[in-house]
Amino acid sequence: GMEEIATPKRTKEIIHRHGFSFKKSLGQNFLIDQNILHKIVGAAGLDKTKGALEIGPGIGALTEKLAQAAEKVAAVEIDQRLIPILQEVLEPYPNVTVYHGDVLKLDLQQLFKEQFGEVSRVSVVANLPYYVTTPILMKLLEQRLPLENIVVMIQKEVALRMGAAPGGKDYGSLSIAVQYYCEPEIICTVPHTVFIPQPNVDSAVIRLKVREAPPIDVDDEGHFFEVVQSSFAQRRKTISNNLKNRYFSGGERAELDRLLNEAGIAPNRRAETLSIEEFANLSNILLRAGV
Ligand code: SAM
Repeated sequence: GMEEIATPKRTKEIIHRHGFSFKKSLGQNFLIDQNILHKIVGAAGLDKTKGALEIGPGIGALTEKLAQAAEKVAAVEIDQRLIPILQEVLEPYPNVTVYHGDVLKLDLQQLFKEQFGEVSRVSVVANLPYYVTTPILMKLLEQRLPLENIVVMIQKEVALRMGAAPGGKDYGSLSIAVQYYCEPEIICTVPHTVFIPQPNVDSAVIRLKVREAPPIDVDDEGHFFEVVQSSFAQRRKTISNNLKNRYFSGGERAELDRLLNEAGIAPNRRAETLSIEEFANLSNILLRAGV
């Protein structure tokens, strides 16, 4: 059979033959290492009853492995120049459908209906374009797509923030947003040498196991996330100061501190020390007080 796509030799051959040039602005760093591809696909737990959605297939390095492991693969690629290449290299895999478009603009509910009606579970598996990692993941999670898990290569620093527990510098609104929907787990860190061209940041593979239900009870999700965002607005300030700036323009500071105390949170604490449960409780108490 044909050599795998993700070897340095075949990748270079494909790129040269099609006269393809990398666009840094689209986060194009292609994988050329079989071991890392197997780790990514293995972490998703795919089998021939399952589907995979890939975002940014590039020249198909990961897509090929997904096609071999899953029943059905849909891949969304923004760069028109890659579409004919994908059609050529993925020709042996009739279970792959390539969509041309920006994943942030695509109707994913519709894509799921078209592609994944017959499969038992779906994973998102991708080597993400780093410039849009957070918007892509938040779109996938907020739309509550029926996903089993999300296994993605991302910037290491972002992976650490997603997985962070309260108390450290990595913990912030991104940690809380991700942990509200998922249980994150860092699978491995990844050296620069597995990509061409090599990115100038460190990378990691993270698995987000999508929760059946949030780990906390919030009365109003929008309000909860707004309280979290506002609490971290200026990390070095106390939670009382940050929330006062957002919700109390006048002199009702005493009222805010009373509500914080009611939630069991000392007003001089910093947001980075609050657990997700404490934020949920605080949001519910503020909301009931009309804040
Ligand atoms: N999956 C390939 C691999 O691992 O070799 C390529 C990964 S590369 C890091 C990211 C890919 O995402 C590129 O092919 C890029 O063109 C594509 N991309 C960037 N922004 C996108 C967007 N908004 N929607 C869909 N694809 C996007």
